[in-house]
Amino acid sequence: TDLRMYDLIIKKRNGGALTKEEITFMVDGFTRGEIPDYQMSAMMMAIYFVGMNEEETLWLTMAMAESGNMLDLSEIQGIKVDKHSTGGVGDKTSLALTPMVAACGVKIAKMSGRGLGHTGGTIDKLESFRGFSTEISINQFLQNVNEIGIAIMGQTKELAPADKKLYALRDVTATVDNLSLIASSIMSKKLAAGADAIVLDVKTVIGAFMKKQADAFLLAKEMVRIGNG
Ligand code: URA
Repeated sequence: TDLRMYDLIIKKRNGGALTKEEITFMVDGFTRGEIPDYQMSAMMMAIYFVGMNEEETLWLTMAMAESGNMLDLSEIQGIKVDKHSTGGVGDKTSLALTPMVAACGVKIAKMSGRGLGHTGGTIDKLESFRGFSTEISINQFLQNVNEIGIAIMGQTKELAPADKKLYALRDVTATVDNLSLIASSIMSKKLAAGADAIVLDVKTVIGAFMKKQADAFLLAKEMVRIGNG
């Protein structure tokens, strides 16, 4: 391929839309370490200002979901449910909600993230319990869900590695609070994690990334659209 990251940055900076081929090239190259952080940072900032259309957002999501292993949860009996928050202050929903849902007999297989921007990460909170291990193997994860009915673990290197890298980059380059970037980040790892149903907890107003309720509705609709797509 003769695609060059430099040309893609210019295209997006000037208001253009990226093709599926260009987005896949960019995500794969970044995951493999061939596209450096500084070029991806520039691209994230260009996307932050220009935005992405619905097709671009779907392609970005799928390229990130397919950047690593797609989990097969068929070893777990019953309906497997995952949940994810779009992030906020005092966002401790998973810690309270998931054990209650598990107690009702629904299997919870959840991967959580670390802090992003000003928001706290569920994995960081769980690690404050002495002895709680958030870095277990996939096999241990599946076994815990089967035996206990619930497991929460950190995002492994194998699951949506493109999002894992991009998440860390966005965190330090002020490119978190963009609708397409949040929607693709969340949905890529949820789709790769293989659950039967996904609960999306969309936050709005002061402590959230989407300060306006109207934007939060757009984000929610976008994630549902990606899920259906
Ligand atoms: N949670 C995520 O996993 N990604 C985002 O971009 C925002 C919240």
